[in-house]
Amino acid sequence: MSIQEHFIPAEKPWSGIVRKGQTIRIVDSEGQQAVDTLFYKADDFSERYSGQDTLRVQGSAYVGIGTKVISNEGNVMLVVTADSCGRHDTSAGACSCESNTVRFGYNTKYLHACRDNFLLEVTKHGMGKRDIVPNINFFMNVPIEPSGQMTIVDGLSAPGDHVELRAEMDVLCVISNCPQVNNPCNGFNPTPIKVVISGDAA
Ligand SMILES: [Zn+2]
Repeated sequence: MSIQEHFIPAEKPWSGIVRKGQTIRIVDSEGQQAVDTLFYKADDFSERYSGQDTLRVQGSAYVGIGTKVISNEGNVMLVVTADSCGRHDTSAGACSCESNTVRFGYNTKYLHACRDNFLLEVTKHGMGKRDIVPNINFFMNVPIEPSGQMTIVDGLSAPGDHVELRAEMDVLCVISNCPQVNNPCNGFNPTPIKVVISGDAA
């Protein structure tokens, strides 16, 4: 069985291929770290994670064990097979210089943001701004109230917490290890994470 380990420093992006039948484990090494994540079909990037279809199919706004990650073509891309945290967000999106400016003031405009990370990383695969779609935020705690109101609050993940997904097709995984320091999604202190890809391709 093959195992790849990737250490992703605080605030940095990463991307890699997870073959059908393999498992990707994302480890929140120090706890309270949001991991913004996008998935693309490895041989056709126009098929990619769809937040809307994933929520519609599972009837829930959160990600947990058993969640099927659905593509914009209605296909199952991955299935969540383990989760020691219990709270992952599908709805709050990725931080950007623009949203930082609106939320936290003009002085935050030049802080590094997840959207910058995503752009840097998808460019390596020949994609651009238009390919950055709504993402999953692993380990980010965004309770949604019955009114629809939602707020980013303190993360629940402890050091070493992990989530695991089994790929149902060959998938390009693109991660931004969130650099946000203006709200509690990273405990106001961005930290490193680890990605482990294991198993044999089907
Ligand atoms: Zn972010």
